[in-house]
Formats: sequence, C-alpha cells, structure tokens
Amino acid sequence: MDPTNPSAECRVLIVGAGPTGLVHALWLTHLGIRVRVIDKAPQAGTTSRALGVHARTLEFYRQLGIADEVVGAGVKAAGVNFWVRGSRAARIALSEMGEGQTAFPYLLIYPQDAHERLLIGRLSDLGVRVERPTELLGFVRHGGFVRATLRRADGSQEVVDAEYLAGCDGASSTVRHALATEFPGGTYSHLFYVADVEADGPPADNEVHIDLESADFLGVFPLTRNGHVRVVGSVRDSLAGRRQSLSFDDVRGQTVRNLKLRTGKVNWFSTYRVHHRVAGSFRQGRVFLLGDAAHVHSPVGAQGMNTGIGDAVNLSWKLASVLTGAARDDLLDTYETERIGFARRLVATTDRIFTLVTNPSRAAARARTGLIPLLLPGLFGIDAFRRSLFRTFSQIAVSYRKSPLSAGSAGGVHGGDRLPWVATSAGADNHAALAGVAWGAHVYGDSREAVEEACSELGLPLHRFPWQPAMEEAGLEKGGLYLVRPDGYVALAASSGGPQALRDYVSARGLSVAAEGRHSAGEALLDGGTATL
Ligand SMILES: Cc1cc2nc3c(=O)[nH]c(=O)nc-3n(C[C@H](O)[C@H](O)[C@H](O)COP(=O)(O)OP(=O)(O)OC[C@H]3O[C@@H](n4cnc5c(N)ncnc54)[C@H](O)[C@@H]3O)c2cc1C
Repeated sequence: MDPTNPSAECRVLIVGAGPTGLVHALWLTHLGIRVRVIDKAPQAGTTSRALGVHARTLEFYRQLGIADEVVGAGVKAAGVNFWVRGSRAARIALSEMGEGQTAFPYLLIYPQDAHERLLIGRLSDLGVRVERPTELLGFVRHGGFVRATLRRADGSQEVVDAEYLAGCDGASSTVRHALATEFPGGTYSHLFYVADVEADGPPADNEVHIDLESADFLGVFPLTRNGHVRVVGSVRDSLAGRRQSLSFDDVRGQTVRNLKLRTGKVNWFSTYRVHHRVAGSFRQGRVFLLGDAAHVHSPVGAQGMNTGIGDAVNLSWKLASVLTGAARDDLLDTYETERIGFARRLVATTDRIFTLVTNPSRAAARARTGLIPLLLPGLFGIDAFRRSLFRTFSQIAVSYRKSPLSAGSAGGVHGGDRLPWVATSAGADNHAALAGVAWGAHVYGDSREAVEEACSELGLPLHRFPWQPAMEEAGLEKGGLYLVRPDGYVALAASSGGPQALRDYVSARGLSVAAEGRHSAGEALLDGGTATL
C-alpha cells in the first residue's frame, strides 16, 4: 500500500469488538467513514457480563435507528427490592422512573453477549465485518498515519496503515500499554463472583434484589429469559484463598438464606476483582483510548459499558468531522477534555458508594440494614429525588459545560448540556430531530427571520417546535436558539443575538455545520411540529 495515502484502505482502525468498539464502528460507518474492526478473540463474547443499558445509551441508539430492536430484546426492570435478615424490607418502583425526561424512562436489562451480537448484525448490514481472530501486536506513529502490525487467524502478520487508531481493547489494553500511558488507581481487596443460574423463589421476578444484611455484597438481577437470574456477590475472606477451585456451590447457601432464592443449573460462574483506574490521557496524536481501555471502576450503577459507548459516540462524530474536512484537528482534543472529566467523576462516585456498600464496620452495617430500607421508599416518593437519581444513573445528566465546544445559556440550558427531551405532541418529541446524526439548530416557539437566514447561510438544518409549557419545565427558553451537536449535546445556547452568536461560534472553531446533502438549506420540511430549513 502507498504510505502517503493510508486512507485508501482504512481510515480508522478499531482495536477491540466489545460494545465500545462496535458502537464506534457503527457510528463512524453511519457517518460514511471507512473502518476496520479487529478482535483477537476467535468469537464474540458468550457470557452475559453487563446487563444494564441506560437511557442515554438508548437515546444514542435511537439516533442510529436501532433502539426499538434493543428495547424489544431486553427486559424493563420494574423495581428494586432491599432484603434484610431473609425478608424483603423495602421495594422501590423503577418502571417509568424517568418519565418526562427521556423517551426511555426505565432501566433496560439486556445481557452483553446478546447486545454485542445485535451490534455485530447491524454492522454487518452496513457491510463491515469484525475480523477475528486478529490481534494488534503493536504500532508506530508517523506524521500523517499510524502503522499497525496485526497477527491474523493463520498466524501471518499484516501491516496496516490507518489515519487514526482507536484503542477499544478493554482493561488490559495493548494500545494503552504501547502508549505507555499511566493507569493510576487501585484494586479493591474483595473477590467477587458472578453467576447466571436457573432459579425460582421471590427474587426470580424480573426485578432487582439487593441483600443489605452484611458487607458480603449480594444482588440478584433479572436476565431476559424467564426463570434465569444473575447473582453477583462478594466472596467471604475465608473462601477467597482458593479462587481457582471456587464454584457456585460454595455460595449457594447464602442466596437461599438471605434472599430465599432457590437455584438450579449454573450456566456461568466466574470470579473477578474490581479495579478503579482512569488512564492519564485519552489521546496521543492519532491514537485514542476508549471504554475499559481508558477507565475501569466498580460495577455500582451498571455504568462501565454505558460509559464506553458514550466515549465511542463522543469520538465518532469528531473523527468523522475531521476526516471529512468539516473541522480542524483540535476538535479531537475535546474528546479527552469531555470524557476524561466524566470518567474521573464517575470513578470517584462509584468508589464512594462501593466503599459504603462493602464497609464491614458496625456503623455501616446499621446504616445499611436500618436506614436504607427506612429512608429510601420515602425518598423515592419525592419527585425531585427520583428525578435526580434517574438523571444520574441513566447518564442523561452528563454534560460538558467546561468544554471549549460549549458556549452560552438560554433558560436553564447551558452549552454542554444534553438537549433536554420534551414531548411535542402525542407520540412525538424533539429528540426525533437528532436522527440525522448531524448539527442542527433548534428554536422552541417562533423563530426570527434572522435566525432562519443564518441557518440557511450555514447550511444548517433548523428545527422549530411550537411553544408548549412543558418546554419551560424542561429548561428551554421561548425563542431561545440552541445549536445542537451530532451527538445531541447543546454546543451553543443563545437567548438573544442568536444569529450572530451562531456565526461567531462556528467561525471561531473552524467548523462546518452544514447538513451535507441531507437537507438542502431553505427547503422546508414539516414533520410533527418540526421544520427543517
Ligand atoms: C460481571 C460483570 C458485570 C458487569 N455489569 C455491567 C453492567 O451491568 N453495566 C455496565 O455498563 N457495565 C457492566 N460491566 C462492565 C462491562 O462489561 C465493560 O465495561 C464492557 O465490556 C467494556 O466494553 P469495552 O468494549 O470497552 O471492552 P471489552 O468488552 O473488554 O472489549 C475489549 C475487546 O478487545 C479485544 N482485544 C483486547 N486486546 C486486543 C488486541 N491486542 N487486539 C485485538 N483485540 C483485542 C478483546 O478480545 C475484547 O473483545 C460488567 C462487567 C463484568 C465483568
């Protein structure tokens, strides 16, 4: 191949076909970028691992047109139950917990192996095949491209040149090691187990069950097949010494005693240690780290896979913009700025909760068994508490206000916030306008002629929504102008002087926000209250 023209073969080499790499490949391909996806494993994962798929991930999937399929294949968790001394002490309802905040107001349970198969299928529909077993051995960075050495299934080596390399290769990342990027943090002392089992008894009811009894964490989660559950727990210190020979039989008694769960056939049992680490940097020139390669943390709140998918989406549209000449290279720096900050906050929060949940002291045990069942149902009755908890766990509250890409505010919405979701009419909402995975201007209420002119000049689709009181509740301002990024975050929010602010924003950052052939500027397209100019 001609090294002066590496793009002839592959523009982005994606290393790792876990959820992060697969979503990165899907978004880039959707945006017209040629990718190769390699994975050293001979086949896709066959164990369920991550179960929780959060609202923000489903919103991203909706932009690609795959959300309905994912939701249809999963189970909506209806509630969380807290058990103390073998009895159910409290229950909180989860279904529709985020109502009014997103089109996906629940926690979806969808095992990671089935999830990955679905993503591989959609990728294959777009003509991209995961190459496996194909391992990245190493790479050398050149000025305009990265030269990677791969080992293919037959043992032969291949040298491939790509303009960018995305390290989506998990916690033991070859890419991170090759970059010699530090991975500071630590490892918790507990040994954990995970088991997928056939079961019956009260906790086999498609809800989540948590035992608060002791510092030996124990939780039961629904799987998509009836009568199958996931049991996650910590291993007593007295057993942890014989990790290699440990089996579910060693912990089975605890699930019966504490949760009244009768278990049968064990389909998967594994033990693992939990780490909390964030890589020192997520970008070095043309090489990026995403997903578990960039950050690992405790499973509290089911955040790991969802955060990797968020990384993939954040980087995808930026890479596509730079590769198509719609943005300067410095746009790519904002990937690290935006995602490393979130990863650090996440690791710190999950660490605090995890430490409390597994704290062996008497005071912590009293708090767990006494206070939590007493206080949580009451707190859940408070709308503001429920909303805030849902916003945090579902990742719809993730925002990038300090990013150089974020500017201004209008109403309660600041540049960097996720575009608030709002129903516009029966069965329709403003997030439908994000389906194009392109820049867009949103105006809620009447738009001024000057705004329309500025959008037309920039080739920017303008989405107008007739004003409704619910919009104010969502934080939107009547007549305010919101420039929305391809990933659904507000770049610029402007109360007044919107048209000039829009022009200034775009020119200062050297961006092209034109909709590239999707809609020609000036063409009006009315759709459920949305007008695209
Ligand atoms: C028991 C368990 C339960 C969990 N539950 C949840 C949950 O409910 N919700 C949640 O969000 N997260 C959960 N997680 C975390 C979640 O599984 C991970 O965060 C997620 O798999 C990370 O995805 P990834 O694509 O970044 O990395 P991975 O899934 O680790 O994928 C990395 C891929 O890279 C490949 N690879 C590695 N090195 C190379 C190389 N040199 N060349 C080529 N390929 C390579 C590997 O074969 C692998 O397929 C759980 C994890 C575990 C273990």
